[in-house]
Amino acid sequence: MYIPFVDLKAQHHSLKTEIDQAIQSVIAETAFIKGKYVDKFENDYADEYGVKHCISVGNGTDAIYVALRALGIGPGDEVITVANSWISTSETISNTGARVVFVDIEPDFYTIDVKQIEEKITPKTKAIIPVHLYGQPAGVDAIKEICNKHGLFLIEDCAQAHFAKYKGQVVGTFGIAGTFSFYPGKNLGAYGDAGAIITNDDDFATKARMFANHGALKKHQHEIEGINSRMDGLQAAILNVKLPYIHKWNRRRFENAQLYSRLLSEVKDINVPPIRENSEHIFHLYVIRTSSRNELRNYLDEKGIATGIHYPTALPFLPAYKYLNHTPQDFPIASKYQDQILSLPMFPELTAKQIEYTAKSIQLFSNQKL
Ligand SMILES: *Cc1c(COP(=O)(O)O)cnc(C)c1O
Repeated sequence: MYIPFVDLKAQHHSLKTEIDQAIQSVIAETAFIKGKYVDKFENDYADEYGVKHCISVGNGTDAIYVALRALGIGPGDEVITVANSWISTSETISNTGARVVFVDIEPDFYTIDVKQIEEKITPKTKAIIPVHLYGQPAGVDAIKEICNKHGLFLIEDCAQAHFAKYKGQVVGTFGIAGTFSFYPGKNLGAYGDAGAIITNDDDFATKARMFANHGALKKHQHEIEGINSRMDGLQAAILNVKLPYIHKWNRRRFENAQLYSRLLSEVKDINVPPIRENSEHIFHLYVIRTSSRNELRNYLDEKGIATGIHYPTALPFLPAYKYLNHTPQDFPIASKYQDQILSLPMFPELTAKQIEYTAKSIQLFSNQKL
């Protein structure tokens, strides 16, 4: 048996006719940049979230960068984010000219440790970017309170958490901006790069839209210098086909995760991912923790099971952040977990058979070790 880490072909196969038609329409109408397919996606995505604005951009990294720039964040400012994420979350902060300030993760849920945020706030702090990592909501209501108390912007990095919910509220709507990636492997994936920002703030929406489009809302009227970061028509048309299925796919992921956890919860030295109370985890990734991660990974590889690590080096310890001079003691949990976490195959089309085979292989590995 071979079990891929993600299987984009399975999903494409299930939608092939619709997708082919969508692509043909974009080409026939040469609606390559902006145009009706992009408008439709922005309207439908905003509606699905119950927010006033969706600003589509070129990718999920730009979504964060554009949000930060539209809020006027730049040199002299500090932005707080989490020690374990994809580098987009922190590199966008630095790329504005601001300084990135990392906070360790909480032991259970792999998201920012809310209790450690306030000690990192200085007069220069302008914003906090929690990441709803692996599809699990961060403790975003408490973060929102901290932001309100200190007058900080809350930007939620929802690249891995399309339609995840916390206390009944969909993530991405707690602060001024929610940012999304539609990278092909994400829960809602395009066939190339694409991203978006959602917001209820009219003024921020205008600034973000302008900045992402060369500083212009109308052709040739450049109010400021911006960048070129737009969703293209082909990606929008493909996302329009896929959007109606997202809740079904998220549900399938959740069911897959439940089956994994049921089969693995009693296995020695395997920690299955706990779900935060009052939240809907959408399982972009199913991440277990074990003290013999590398051996288990090799063992599963030999069994034909592909796995991933998200992420093998926590952000503060990457060469890119050497200049911050961080030590493992600064982020003990992220430092410890980077050697223990392992992401198992996870996608909506994953079958019970594949999950059972993977779980059984992990059980066998565990038995052999003892
Ligand atoms: C994927 C991802 C991004 C960036 O998205 P791209 O579309 O690849 O630029 C940002 N943050 C997190 C947490 C991600 O997983």
